[in-house]
Amino acid sequence: MVGGGIIGLASAFLLARRGWSVTLFDPAPGKGATWAAAGMVAASAEIAPGEQTNYELQKCALPAWRELRAELRDVIAIELDIHETGTLMVAWDDSDRRLVDQFAQVAEEFGVRPQSVQRSVDPEMFSGLSGRIIEGLFIDGDAWLDPDQAVALLTAANEVLGVDVVAETVLEVFDTGEGVRATTTTRTHEGSVGILATGANPLPNGARTSGVNAVRPVRGMTARVLGLDRSTQPTVRAFVRGRTFYLVSRPGGYCILGATSEERSEPVVEVGEMQRLLRDALDVVPALETANLLETRLGLRPANVDLEPFFEVLAPGRWAWSSGHYRHGVTLAPLAARDALVFGESLV
Ligand SMILES: Cc1cc2nc3c(=O)[nH]c(=O)nc-3n(C[C@H](O)[C@H](O)[C@H](O)COP(=O)(O)OP(=O)(O)OC[C@H]3O[C@@H](n4cnc5c(N)ncnc54)[C@H](O)[C@@H]3O)c2cc1C
Repeated sequence: MVGGGIIGLASAFLLARRGWSVTLFDPAPGKGATWAAAGMVAASAEIAPGEQTNYELQKCALPAWRELRAELRDVIAIELDIHETGTLMVAWDDSDRRLVDQFAQVAEEFGVRPQSVQRSVDPEMFSGLSGRIIEGLFIDGDAWLDPDQAVALLTAANEVLGVDVVAETVLEVFDTGEGVRATTTTRTHEGSVGILATGANPLPNGARTSGVNAVRPVRGMTARVLGLDRSTQPTVRAFVRGRTFYLVSRPGGYCILGATSEERSEPVVEVGEMQRLLRDALDVVPALETANLLETRLGLRPANVDLEPFFEVLAPGRWAWSSGHYRHGVTLAPLAARDALVFGESLV
């Protein structure tokens, strides 16, 4: 397994759990895009025009996470927390309200019926939000988890299952037709099958892709603050001046504010980018005024040409490339792991 983000870690786990002997290469596991992610598993709130296929896939993600949670529990006796809070979608001004209406229309076409909610009827649901936001849409069935916890539990379970973690970058890969080789600066490792789960990063030399899939990095930043606990309430999604904003609130007052999206790859947080995110956050959720800014996290979303995730078997057939998960890699990780398992089993 080349790459130990959420995709590589979950895939390594499922393979090791089914008896495979797995070596995972990554100089910094869990510190790629996965590090920046808010952890929403929100198939319905992520509905977008033209993304029906992606939605159908994402719909399977929450049940798949529940199954993965059970498998993790069997191995390490620790429960991954999955918070099934749903989503509250709101608008900042009249033109944003039109965007919410458009969302509702597309959602209905996808078979999802968001429920209209009013602050006057359910003030708790709107706690912390600007007084001018008096209505919204409640979308049931969405959830969130903490990607740091998922990474920690998968890492612990992989250790129990004997996954060998090599903290090195793979520079070159080779397919002998009967097996695979992966070369780092210090060694060459041999195996029977290999999976490249390198996110938005360039593939190692020697990876022969078909050219159908091509991943580009889309930079995103989340800000982490402490000081508002609405963890018993739905995740907030807002349209603000045409931009999107979300707030994931964890028990204890830790909140994730997200997310910026730039067609850029430099690992920097620009002041303007940060200013827009915090401005949107404070307009929609003025209760954040006195929250403490803890940190920002930056990641490169792996976006395929058609924005769809993929699992591509590379010629001549013993390496596969699992990527393109874009905004949804945390959501889709258990499904990518199943693809890895099917691929491995097809070769034995
Ligand atoms: C700001 C932000 C917010 C997000 N929020 C959400 C969300 O709420 N819900 C959701 O579902 N998704 C979210 N995403 C998307 C999600 O984070 C990604 O789709 C997902 O993390 C991709 O996982 P990955 O394992 O493919 O990539 P990564 O996490 O980037 O992991 C790739 C790993 O490969 C390693 N690597 C690369 N090249 C090599 C090599 N040659 N040799 C060895 N190792 C190598 C890297 O070190 C890295 O650890 C968000 C993304 C961002 C940026």
